[in-house]
Amino acid sequence: MLYVDGKWVGAGEAAVDPEDRGYNFGDGVYEVVRIYKGKLFQWDAHIERMERSAKEIQMKMPWSAQELLDIAKQLMEKNGITAQDDATLYMQVSRGNSPRVHDIPGDVKPVLMGFARKKDRPLADHKKGLKAALIEDIRWLRCDIKSISLLGAVMVKQYAKDTGAQDAILHRDGIITECSAANLFAVKNGELYTHPANNLILKGITRDVVIELATKNGLTVHEKPFDTKFLLQADEIFLTSTTAEVMPVISVDGQAIADGLVGSVTQKLQTLFEQHIEEAVLV
Ligand code: PMP
Repeated sequence: MLYVDGKWVGAGEAAVDPEDRGYNFGDGVYEVVRIYKGKLFQWDAHIERMERSAKEIQMKMPWSAQELLDIAKQLMEKNGITAQDDATLYMQVSRGNSPRVHDIPGDVKPVLMGFARKKDRPLADHKKGLKAALIEDIRWLRCDIKSISLLGAVMVKQYAKDTGAQDAILHRDGIITECSAANLFAVKNGELYTHPANNLILKGITRDVVIELATKNGLTVHEKPFDTKFLLQADEIFLTSTTAEVMPVISVDGQAIADGLVGSVTQKLQTLFEQHIEEAVLV
């Protein structure tokens, strides 16, 4: 079951208005929330980020946080997600349906759509790590907005796949920004480096959790830009996202990072993240 503009519909029955601005322009915002054992992880942070994204595109969200939570809970229930299941929840808000003009119509009403599905954690990949390709960051200059316009992300991910890699590490003029749908960290001499949360990256919720866990546990985190040379000479690299969690990257463009094995700092952060999932209050 999906939630589409106030109605519950079966998969395959949902319809999009041909002049939905999300459909025409990618004019909308979204969130993907992790569900661990039937409970929402970092729910408040996702809703805050969605509200921020909406504000940045001058869109008013007519739903309260409680209304969104009720819908999320119903999506889990209607899709059979129980206390045994790991899953993901997708929620998007399109600007709404309106005759096609670029500027924002005054009377347009946002359309909320959501679905939830069971999804296992990528535990095998956590142990093995991923192979990445270095790809030019061709996306726009407002990557801080979690926009549903994702063509740039689609293209860079495919370029990476075409080289045989599993993900793309993006660089803008040689400066590493993030991955196609994840943030990136490098480890050098036991310290963490990641791009500052400005307009060139999405401020990932997993990134924030990892920075907090690292700092609390005595690791130094530098939120500052670094270049491709620094990346390739790093001791360890890992990416973070809601679905990938703390995911090691063991090679870039076929070149092993250090000894090509999952590093000890990455493993430590994976353990801290695991403990955090168990101890955090999920809704
Ligand atoms: N950057 C981009 C471009 C993303 O699409 C994502 C996935 N939402 C992230 C970073 C990671 O963010 P989060 O940890 O909140 O999932």
